[in-house]
Amino acid sequence: MNSSTTTSGLAFEVRLSPQRKTPQERAALLENPGFGNVFTDHMVTVRYTESRGWHDAQLEPYGPLILDPATAALHYAQEIFEGLKAYRHPDGTIACFRPEANAARFNRSARRMAMPELPEELFIGAIETLIQHDGEWVPTQENSSLYLRPYMFATDVGLGVNNPSRSYLFVLIASPSGPYFSGGIKPVTVWLSEDYTRAAPGGTGEAKFAGNYAASFLAQAQAVEKGCDQVVWLDALEHRWVEEMGGMNLFFVFGSGDDVRLLTPELTGTLLPGITRDSLLKLSSELGIAAEEGRISTEQWRAAAQSGELTEVFACGTAAVITPVGHVKGSGGEFSISDGTPGPLTMRLREELVALQYGTRPDTHGWVRKVG
Ligand SMILES: *Cc1c(COP(=O)(O)O)cnc(C)c1O
Repeated sequence: MNSSTTTSGLAFEVRLSPQRKTPQERAALLENPGFGNVFTDHMVTVRYTESRGWHDAQLEPYGPLILDPATAALHYAQEIFEGLKAYRHPDGTIACFRPEANAARFNRSARRMAMPELPEELFIGAIETLIQHDGEWVPTQENSSLYLRPYMFATDVGLGVNNPSRSYLFVLIASPSGPYFSGGIKPVTVWLSEDYTRAAPGGTGEAKFAGNYAASFLAQAQAVEKGCDQVVWLDALEHRWVEEMGGMNLFFVFGSGDDVRLLTPELTGTLLPGITRDSLLKLSSELGIAAEEGRISTEQWRAAAQSGELTEVFACGTAAVITPVGHVKGSGGEFSISDGTPGPLTMRLREELVALQYGTRPDTHGWVRKVG
């Protein structure tokens, strides 16, 4: 069946999959989907050309993209992406958490990579259209959600290297995901990377740009070789100032009880401005917890952990929400954060955020947007 639904301006042509999963097949896939392995029945595509702007918005069966071997993105990596989730609320409705912030960041990434911006209503409209047809894929189990992956890449055909592409494809796919941590929340051990750099001033560190990830895999492999779970990125100039952990932002907790204080590395242009990071900064100040953006070096980190002044460290991002950091290793040896177990503020902030996302606590921020 072909039909068309209009969402804020551009009409989405709807081409339903002739091979939709049956309710039984879907239930089997939703039982233990893991992360990023299972995909829904449909995807959204929207095309851009210089002459026509954004056009040809479609909901279509999930399936392979056919690309010319000379497609620009395959050669020069002009590709950006986003990551957000659709959550099942207790009343059965489906909501996203601050999707407008993802749309805005997508456009900041687009500007950095000399790509066209996508109107916010098209970004949100793509999500609403996909949820309208694949909403049954949003899991109902606790701590499960439908991970949404919008992305855009250069589709000009040719090897000319001097100019950005003049045509692009926007795609939205969706992947049901289970609890990120099967078997409870386990603190990670991190490796302070001095051999590799994620981002340098003037570079692409602040954009959600695919190449940042390609450049990180070797450092992540080194971290694993050193017996760690994740790599911690330091600044490119001095290899001292802490920036991020893998694909997540970091928070440091000093003191305890009424004197507790949070610090997160400031946005210098080389860090990815996480929406979880921003939400936690706002949530903590509402909860009466002092929270600041600043700098922390690896020496300060070690000294404060050893003196006991530093009580907790955690990383945050959409996929895993909040991950405690228990142990730290680097060229100068290793140390633990308190007794290496998840701290009370780490767990409290996690609970507060998850409650908002899953709709079990009232949203007083206008962060929750119903999409189905
Ligand atoms: C996406 C991402 C984050 C986390 O951003 P959220 O909006 O909180 O999901 C942090 N660091 C990097 C490098 C990222 O790509």
